[in-house]
Amino acid sequence: MPKVINDNPFVFMGGTFDPIHNGHLRTALELQQWLGVDQIALIPAKTPVHREAPGRSSEQRLEMVRLAVADEPALRVDDREICSDQPSYSLLTLQSLRQELGDERPICMIMGMDAYQTLPSWHEWEKFIDLCHLIVVHRPGYQLPDGDQISDFTQQHRVVTPQDVLTKPAGSVLFHELTPLAISATQIRQTIEQGLSPRYLLPDQVWRYIQANRLYSQVS
Ligand code: ATP
Ligand code: MG
Repeated sequence: MPKVINDNPFVFMGGTFDPIHNGHLRTALELQQWLGVDQIALIPAKTPVHREAPGRSSEQRLEMVRLAVADEPALRVDDREICSDQPSYSLLTLQSLRQELGDERPICMIMGMDAYQTLPSWHEWEKFIDLCHLIVVHRPGYQLPDGDQISDFTQQHRVVTPQDVLTKPAGSVLFHELTPLAISATQIRQTIEQGLSPRYLLPDQVWRYIQANRLYSQVS
């Protein structure tokens, strides 16, 4: 008998979003449509105050995500990491989501291939798969990692259809290739530092906020 698709999976993308750009936004929107879910949540990570780069705070990164999704009902911002007293570890976020959503509801964590390559260095990463699915999107310039640990992990958990992640609460890794956008926040920060315009790499409302608050260009 075919399994009933749970109609309300929680799908999210974490990141520093420093700043949020069209690579993040397009990825999230394409996945929302591909999976057929109502919404994708964007969860900006908190930077400890003593490690914040000059010129932008966690609140400013959060505000930029807010501005970026303000007129897109398929995307929303979730401020749980920035508002939390705890450090931004994915494990803590997943545990808090699981507690809030219960044991049955599918939870999917989106990450780019660059992030997936570094997964074995994340705090207690082996526990993630018991709490969520991973949806890994291709990113120009990054290949499927071939380290022993991550290859074994991929082999063990890989599934190939969205159905697989929408019918179970956790446990799978799903890869997806979408419109490749070679945009990074690093490139945008460098462009602004050089006095050049990053326009069309990120939403205009975010660019206007960056200009009004003199983010990235001025180290004071
Ligand atoms: P930085 O250059 O500062 O690392 P970034 O552009 O990589 O910034 P992050 O906030 O680090 O952005 O990324 C958040 C998540 O979005 C990560 O999982 C990352 O892999 C993914 N991501 C970022 N940019 C893209 C892109 N252009 N295409 C697909 N995934 C992306
Ligand atoms: Mg990054």
